[in-house]
Amino acid sequence: MPNAKNTFPSPAKKASSEEYDIVIIGSGTGGKLIAWTFASEGQRVAMIERKYVGGSCPNIACLPSKNIIHTAQVASYARRSEEFGIARGSFKLDMSAVRGRKRKMVSSLIDTHLAAYRDSGAELIMGFGRFIGPRTVEVTLNDGTKRQLKGTNVVINTSTHAAIDSIPGLAEAQPLTHIEALELDKVPEHLVVIGGGYVGVELAQAIRRFGSKVSIIDRNGRLLHREDDDVTEAIGGLFQDEGIDPILNARIKRVSGQSGQRVKVTAEQNGVEKTIEGTHILVATGRIPNTKDLGVEVAGVQVTDRGYVKVNERLETTAPGIWAVGEVAGSPQFTHISEDDFHVFHDNVNGGNHVTTGRLVPFCVFTDPEFARVGLSEKEARAKGIPYRLFKVPMAIVLRARALVETRGFLKALVATDSDRILGFMNFGVGAGEVMSAVQIAMMGRLPYISLRDAVLAHPTLVEGLHMLFGSTPSVPSETISAELPVQANA
Ligand SMILES: Cc1cc2nc3c(=O)[nH]c(=O)nc-3n(C[C@H](O)[C@H](O)[C@H](O)COP(=O)(O)OP(=O)(O)OC[C@H]3O[C@@H](n4cnc5c(N)ncnc54)[C@H](O)[C@@H]3O)c2cc1C
Repeated sequence: MPNAKNTFPSPAKKASSEEYDIVIIGSGTGGKLIAWTFASEGQRVAMIERKYVGGSCPNIACLPSKNIIHTAQVASYARRSEEFGIARGSFKLDMSAVRGRKRKMVSSLIDTHLAAYRDSGAELIMGFGRFIGPRTVEVTLNDGTKRQLKGTNVVINTSTHAAIDSIPGLAEAQPLTHIEALELDKVPEHLVVIGGGYVGVELAQAIRRFGSKVSIIDRNGRLLHREDDDVTEAIGGLFQDEGIDPILNARIKRVSGQSGQRVKVTAEQNGVEKTIEGTHILVATGRIPNTKDLGVEVAGVQVTDRGYVKVNERLETTAPGIWAVGEVAGSPQFTHISEDDFHVFHDNVNGGNHVTTGRLVPFCVFTDPEFARVGLSEKEARAKGIPYRLFKVPMAIVLRARALVETRGFLKALVATDSDRILGFMNFGVGAGEVMSAVQIAMMGRLPYISLRDAVLAHPTLVEGLHMLFGSTPSVPSETISAELPVQANA
């Protein structure tokens, strides 16, 4: 897919189009980095955003969810205060104040974004963008007026939205998605979460900790079902201890009632019909790409059968001069990947050849404790027939975890059998995301595992647990080949 520069004629549109070097539709992470970087370099850049300055991450996804999750952790500490020798007085949760704290953070992030647009010179246009021709976008501004923009290059960064499955009664029940769940001003009496992926488990735990009764329904036999069995068992055990009711292997047949009042979810579990009654429903069952109203056809941009923009490994679409970054391009659904897509675009538009294939995709599930992984899981290694040595230790031998008395979980690493290369690392435990990042950096530098085992690491940090992990005796699982297909976590 070539990257043509100003070679696509559209004479009909030319007279009324405003010309830009780069036009971006959607101000997600990749898009905004493109806008600020290229505008700072002197290019004429227009960013079209329908609603969320800065995209999902600071407004309705990563950062507000982590803000709420942190407050939920404080609520959990408050409940456990006697364990710390702090006598508990009366304890009352004010959900509208929880929301207020989150809103304050979001609004300060928006200010930071607006300053970056001002400082870089990128033009932020608030409105809905859709293609009306090759590299030509019509923006319906929020006041109803229209503008027509043409870019030498156009970038699609419109992302995805929460899917609401076509289960009878579900859409009519007006379920919460993550957007409304992060805006609750009252604790639900009984929240029914549909979907046990990372969004579902993070929000289920947080809302439970605010005092709601929570049930979580998943069609698979385990929460976070793509992960190794010891991980899914550990998450299951955590949820059980927190009083969250998992309803697994369950196919939802119908829903009745209204979320926010009373809802009834009828599901078939292992051949038996079961009814779950609650007050609210939260759907977290997957994502749908935002391409439906984008007019991609008139721009020559093809989409996959699931509606994602078709791109090659350089993030070029099927239309010359049009690119896609972030979730809408089918990239793994993380902010750091949308950010990496920015680097791919930046290098390629400047004549380089930067590809998306083969990149490490770390991720962290922000339950408490966290689960984080980089590189291969055991399931993936087996599916690919890659032999490995398995290192695994409980968090209880990590001295920092002991000091915190937060000893739930384990550390696990896969190391090649024919070299000391680390193939994968995962941690379910306090501070897992930070420990995983340390191992990732070692993997990026191709350090053998013994470098971590023998490194001088500050005591007592959680990263010091890597001494215990890589100093332990590995096992070599006999069965390394299975018929399972490799899976990309959360992709
Ligand atoms: C609840 C939740 C928690 C998450 N937590 C994490 C996390 O902890 N860590 C992590 O790495 N990832 C997390 N993610 C995923 C992460 O939010 C996304 O992967 C990330 O924001 C990158 O998205 P993006 O760049 O593709 O686009 P987005 O950031 O989603 O931005 C796309 C933008 O395009 C705009 N838009 C869409 N269509 C149009 C149009 N036609 N015209 C104009 N504008 C348009 C939208 O309004 C939106 O602002 C989470 C997601 C959810 C839902």
